[in-house]
Amino acid sequence: ASPTRQSLKIGLIPGDGIGVEVIPAAKAAIVALGSDIPKPDFVDLDAGFECFTRTGVALPEETVRVLEEECDCAIFGAVSSPTRRVVGYSSPIVGLRKRLDLYANVRPVTSVAADPNEKPDVDLVVVRENTECLYVKQEELKHTENGKEARATRLITERASRRIGQMAFDIALGRPRKHLTVIHKSNVLSVTDGLFRETVREVPTLPEVNGKYNDVQVAEQIVDSAVYRLFREPQIYDVMVAPNLYGDILSDAAAALVGSLGLVPSVNAGDKFIMGEPVHGSAPDILGLDIANPLASIRSAALMLRFLGYVKGADRIDRAVDEVIREGTVLTPDLGGKGKTSEVVEAVLKKI
Ligand code: ATP
Ligand code: MG
Repeated sequence: ASPTRQSLKIGLIPGDGIGVEVIPAAKAAIVALGSDIPKPDFVDLDAGFECFTRTGVALPEETVRVLEEECDCAIFGAVSSPTRRVVGYSSPIVGLRKRLDLYANVRPVTSVAADPNEKPDVDLVVVRENTECLYVKQEELKHTENGKEARATRLITERASRRIGQMAFDIALGRPRKHLTVIHKSNVLSVTDGLFRETVREVPTLPEVNGKYNDVQVAEQIVDSAVYRLFREPQIYDVMVAPNLYGDILSDAAAALVGSLGLVPSVNAGDKFIMGEPVHGSAPDILGLDIANPLASIRSAALMLRFLGYVKGADRIDRAVDEVIREGTVLTPDLGGKGKTSEVVEAVLKKI
């Protein structure tokens, strides 16, 4: 991405549930930056379960085409996931990650220190592999003499493990501590997790890497013990890289440490496209109440801009969010406040 564009075309895919309530906040934060970024040009795009019930398709081809051919980046809200199987429906976000080859899901989890000069207690990044593991969704159900038997395929490839490893090393290199923890369960799954662990650990020795990652300190940890230590001593972690499912669970767990899922942003990143996405889901339990926390979406907009190279704009948004949290006067109920979504958005925009 070259920060020399004249304008920035941004796809907006609110999706379902509170996605519809929080994505406008991300848009407003970007608009508020003014000339710190190229002139933003937004395009609204359809996808999700509601789209499926209306049109019969969860991820319209037109949405994929506009993203691929016209957009520089996008922001995705959330999609409702029916708990029972619905014939013909498959998750559009999983589909988009595949179609746009967004192989990494990068999830920074940070707490806000009371004093802006102090270090936050939690300041880590979960780098989650985004294309394989159990998410290849090859499941089968058999009826046997002893009753039903269900199986799922878990795919780990050297290629995907290597590129997620490279992304994780790059992110670690760009942070003050330069520390990377490889998360796995190779004591039990020695073939699949063994391959992930070996491949990521070998990244610094690849010929093309040419010593670039020499300053990154690497550790590794079994996933269950990582969850335990994460809850006891979150300060020890800097960057964590994990296969898809462990990364998903670890980042929701880490979100609990900073107070709410409604605070944690992510980007889905590939070599050619960046898509911001709050870590939370569609939160049907709070839909329509104007109490969804918009900060995860606003931070996702900032993270997307950061990945595109617009660091100054990203910093401005992040500082505004931190100040609103620090002041604590306008916060949504998930953070113990009485504020409405719209009031929090207003407070952030004023700071920007
Ligand atoms: P989905 O299937 O779409 O993931 P879910 O039922 O798992 O939906 P999540 O969105 O993952 O719901 O949320 C889990 C819990 O966290 C819910 O109780 C929800 O209300 C709360 N939550 C999630 N996001 C936010 C937010 N932005 N603001 C406030 N609360 C939130
Ligand atoms: Mg959920």
